[in-house]
Amino acid sequence: MTFVKSAKALVDAGLVQDIGTLDVVAERYAIGITPAVLDLIDRADPEDPIARQFVPTEAELLTKPEERADPIGDLSHSPVEGIVHRYPDRVLLKAVHVCPVYCRFCFRREMVGPQGLGTLTGPELDAAMDYIAAHEEIWEVILTGGDPLVLSPRRLAGLMERLAKIEHVKIVRFHTRVPVVEPERIDEAMVEALMSSGKTTYLAVHANHPREFSPAARQAFKKLFDGGVALLSQSVLLRGVNDDVETLAALMRGFVENRIKPYYLHHPDLAPGTSHFRIGIEEGQALVAALRGRISGLCQPTYVLDIPGGHGKTDIGAAKVSGGDGCFTVRDWRGGEHAYPPE
Ligand SMILES: *Cc1c(COP(=O)(O)O)cnc(C)c1O
Ligand code: SF4
Repeated sequence: MTFVKSAKALVDAGLVQDIGTLDVVAERYAIGITPAVLDLIDRADPEDPIARQFVPTEAELLTKPEERADPIGDLSHSPVEGIVHRYPDRVLLKAVHVCPVYCRFCFRREMVGPQGLGTLTGPELDAAMDYIAAHEEIWEVILTGGDPLVLSPRRLAGLMERLAKIEHVKIVRFHTRVPVVEPERIDEAMVEALMSSGKTTYLAVHANHPREFSPAARQAFKKLFDGGVALLSQSVLLRGVNDDVETLAALMRGFVENRIKPYYLHHPDLAPGTSHFRIGIEEGQALVAALRGRISGLCQPTYVLDIPGGHGKTDIGAAKVSGGDGCFTVRDWRGGEHAYPPE
């Protein structure tokens, strides 16, 4: 079982020929590849969509002027360490800033990793819990990070026990890549810990390519669903990974086949050193429109942009309706336009 965590380990694992400038990249942005991901990488394919997500490249050293360390403005909405409170009824709780893998396009890449913001201390966690308890408008707590499922079941259960006592919190949601990249962590103890708040529990699975649905990942999804966790998806639209309609269709169908409801398809954020992953919004809109006609309504994600500066997410699927004063033009999935109400 090899975990790749350094530039040298990339060479040893046969993922790159030589280190070149990759140790410079590694100083800025953490490297992390799990055994499950190593198994998925096709070393014979120089454009392998799995390798592209996890194996660092020199291109990351190029930071564009529009890119920012805090691309979605989390820091401006953080009342206490570990909490982001941007929308009235829900908060992010970021207990850890480590992940089992480090995605090369990560929007929090300046905050995660061994050099990142670290794990909340005892007093910081107390303050975060006090904040949630003191704000009765908080209906949902979203555990993200980092990846909250790197915590042991015992520690997660400890967090859940504290949330359980806060009456106004009705929903606990986890955002994680673990079921795909380290599926062996999803065992009975983990599922029990996730459910232990007694609240309605959702988990958003992050996956970007249909090949990520390995037999072990499918098994992990099944354990979660059968254990009572409602499953949602989260993907990032990425150049060279999933920016064609066949791949996106297979990805979304893969989620639905595993009882995971497609939720968000994110337009890539302006994270530093990630311009090689970005596609244009118009290109994204065309892909999403093509999905609408091609595959089941169950498989349709919402295409969202997190507006830089902390203004939150917005749906950027192409406008399907225009007009006003009771007279509209609506567009169908082939691009055909129709008057509503009909003339
Ligand atoms: C994305 C995000 C959420 C969750 O938004 P939903 O639309 O409910 O999925 C909540 N808080 C912050 C700060 C976010 O960035
Ligand atoms: S798992 Fe999420 S937070 Fe961690 S590196 Fe990947 S995108 Fe970033």
